[in-house]
Amino acid sequence: LNESKMKTFEEIESAVRSYSRGWPTVFDKAKGYKLWDTDGREYIDFFAGAGTLNYGHNDDAMQEKIINYIKNDGIIHSLDMGTTPRKEFLEQFKEIILKPRNLDYKIMFPGPTGTNTVESALKIARKVTGRDTVISFTNAFHGMTIGSLSVTGNSFKRHGAGVPLHHTVSMPFDDYVEDQDSIAYLERFLEDSGSGVALPAAIILETVQGEGGINAARMEWLKKVDAICKRWDILLIIDDVQAGNGRTGTFFSFEPAGINPDVVCLSKSIGGFGLPMAITLIKPEYDQWGPGEHNGTFRGNNLAFIAATEALSNWKTDDFSKDIQAKGDLLKTAVNKLIEKYPVLKGEARGRGLMQGIAVHVDGLAEAICAEAFKRGLIVETSGPADEVVKFLPPLVIDQEGLEKGLEILEDSIKYVTN
Ligand code: PMP
Repeated sequence: LNESKMKTFEEIESAVRSYSRGWPTVFDKAKGYKLWDTDGREYIDFFAGAGTLNYGHNDDAMQEKIINYIKNDGIIHSLDMGTTPRKEFLEQFKEIILKPRNLDYKIMFPGPTGTNTVESALKIARKVTGRDTVISFTNAFHGMTIGSLSVTGNSFKRHGAGVPLHHTVSMPFDDYVEDQDSIAYLERFLEDSGSGVALPAAIILETVQGEGGINAARMEWLKKVDAICKRWDILLIIDDVQAGNGRTGTFFSFEPAGINPDVVCLSKSIGGFGLPMAITLIKPEYDQWGPGEHNGTFRGNNLAFIAATEALSNWKTDDFSKDIQAKGDLLKTAVNKLIEKYPVLKGEARGRGLMQGIAVHVDGLAEAICAEAFKRGLIVETSGPADEVVKFLPPLVIDQEGLEKGLEILEDSIKYVTN
């Protein structure tokens, strides 16, 4: 980027606060796992709209269906009314996702964002249990509204709300090191609270913490948390906003643990095409809201339903899942090799499926690597409480060539900034 261009960019962008500061260019076009800026420079996408573009940019089939729908005067906005795209999405979600997994949930549309589905989950848990506290975990990220922020384990983000947030208790997330500690701690807390008034309504967690640093809970840990919820009659809410929709190799991230959460939150890639959409899955016995007790204007995004239904067709067989897992293995091998080859990173491999990262235990180095990668044509973001993790979140449809090219740019960037 030449200096005058950078200056123009800074002038234009000085009025806003956004990601642009990290990626100083004007993006123009995108297809699959690639983006292009107004100068025609090509970028490989290892970010995928923070996990919103699992099916890539501008998928051909989704694009065609959306364009045809608009040309045929399809209904765009419909609140929570029944429409053909909505009916088809509901039928397909039950048929392709819920039935084969033996899952029985009521599907609700809580509003267009991840935060909306989390808010709805917290509210329903409080309503059905009549209790008010919720347990969340260190380094969790659940959203930016007062409710979802109050279960977000990041003091910097909570600081944005200005005042202390109530009704929540933060517990240590799966720590890997002291095998039983976090579970023992949770149990002790509940034994104390169990004497009466203070039992929580719910435990909310991400199986792989996306914003919190790609911390992947072990299946054994998830099973134990699930058992604790059952023992104490506490609702288990899985926030699969980022880790769901196939990101970790199965449609729901909790599938390998064989658990059946009470409430599941989905957003980001559920809308298939990058269109805003969220759903909350609620076990039928907890579907206790009367009409209007939770609503919102943008719950009927028909364009998102069309893309979402098309996205579900990927899940009709096991092939997509196997493909993600194979690419996840390739990524893991490459990550481990980089960590070994560049001890200067003090690196640590994190994550599973196509949700992985390298924790770089040297101050500021992860950010420097991402900035250099951008200059070389790779879009990759940091995560974690100190931005210490280089986070890989490519579209699930990326091919082996794209993955390898992205990793090559990453290695060149590491070499350059650590030299
Ligand atoms: N939950 C998780 C796990 C997330 O990663 C995010 C967004 N990064 C949210 C909730 C909030 O979603 P949104 O930004 O769409 O409100």
